[in-house]
Amino acid sequence: MDIFDDQAYAMASEQFRIVSDYLEIDENLRQRTLHPKRAIAVTLPVRRDNGSIDVFRGYRVQHHLAFGPTKGGVRFHPRVTLGEVTALAIWMSWKCALAGLPYGGAKGGVTVAPETLSTHELEALSRRYMQEMIPFVGPHTDIIGPDMGTNEQVMAWFMDTWSVHEGYAVPEIVTGKPVSVGGVTGRREATGRGVVYLVERALNVLKLDPGKCTAIVQGFGNVGAVAALGLAYKSGMKITGISDAGGAFYRAGGIDMDQAEGWVKKHGSLAGFTEADPVSPEELLTLPCDVLVPAAVEAVITEHNAGQLRCRILAEGANGPTTPAADLILNERWDEIFVIPDILCNSGGVIVSYFEWVQGLQQFFWNETEVTDRLFRILEQAFTAMIKRARSEKIPHRLAAMAIGVERVMSAKKARGLFP
Ligand code: NAD
Repeated sequence: MDIFDDQAYAMASEQFRIVSDYLEIDENLRQRTLHPKRAIAVTLPVRRDNGSIDVFRGYRVQHHLAFGPTKGGVRFHPRVTLGEVTALAIWMSWKCALAGLPYGGAKGGVTVAPETLSTHELEALSRRYMQEMIPFVGPHTDIIGPDMGTNEQVMAWFMDTWSVHEGYAVPEIVTGKPVSVGGVTGRREATGRGVVYLVERALNVLKLDPGKCTAIVQGFGNVGAVAALGLAYKSGMKITGISDAGGAFYRAGGIDMDQAEGWVKKHGSLAGFTEADPVSPEELLTLPCDVLVPAAVEAVITEHNAGQLRCRILAEGANGPTTPAADLILNERWDEIFVIPDILCNSGGVIVSYFEWVQGLQQFFWNETEVTDRLFRILEQAFTAMIKRARSEKIPHRLAAMAIGVERVMSAKKARGLFP
């Protein structure tokens, strides 16, 4: 068994094989480019509130170091494996390169269901994770951020643990932290905002009026909720379907996003939501809509449902929501479904994290308008580059986006050479 065995890693490898074949990358360079530079596994003992000790497993994977430090979030989720974290690190590399950020990809994770921990236990786990990572991460080597199951508070504990070790405040070790300890305004909303910007760009290309469009959003966390609220209140779209781990809901006449947000704040999830009809989570993805936003977990668009999707735009807010087998079907349906691939669609988060890191290093802060304006400028460049390449070479959007990212990484590796 390979240490990276996981469905997400198989997906990332297959996508890389496809782009490598397309770019005719030499076999020697493929291995060097795909495999991560470092993969770290740690054991995290945590004293529970009842006095017992539970042991959790944590990971950090740094994919390539050709541009500068690595960058990536930390996921707390029961399905986390070394292979999944590695896949997420690889996707981060292509994402950062496509956006022109000076980072290699990284990712971290702990195999845990965070909702089963008390606040005190979550703090102990977070601090222990950062403590174990101290020899391997740093503001100039690997910068940590949030992902599924982690939030601003967890980032603040990470930052504090690192800072206590150094003896002075080091805000630039993590991004996505609270504004009160050096976080950037607009980071929490950045990924969802980026999704909304890119959906509007795609609607513009397709000459569709957002005010007459409907959207279905899977996942109602940081990315999904911000995207759904933005699509409703900024773009003027009708949100007909939403879901999270607690259930899926549909209402053809449109769901009130304030009510949905209020429900989740009060109850912790959408479970039992009364303002729309419950549907099966699988069915939600194939209901008719103009924009479908998977913003939860990997591999939800597969060869089994890709042929049944009834959207005009597939906006991949999540990392890796579409399997390579599903891509083959979506490639056939290129004139029906406009795909905004994950490495572009959710890149708003890492772009604003980059601003947060730069601001931390310089101790010079911008306001939210400046942050959002710079975010949109970078997204626009990446979107235009992808569309231009897809059109000129008549290739799918994902292949075009990945080709740009992979070429940039390869060219940096080539320029730096192989040591020794
Ligand atoms: P989150 O923990 O804030 O929210 C995740 C949401 O997905 C929750 O509403 C949860 O209930 C829901 N969910 C979990 N399993 C589900 C399932 N099987 N079906 C439907 N819903 C389910 O996480 P997030 O930060 O919003 O991340 C979501 C996705 O976006 C992940 O793939 C993550 O890697 C990606 N992403 C996040 C960011 C970021 O800035 N947070 C940036 C880039 C990509």
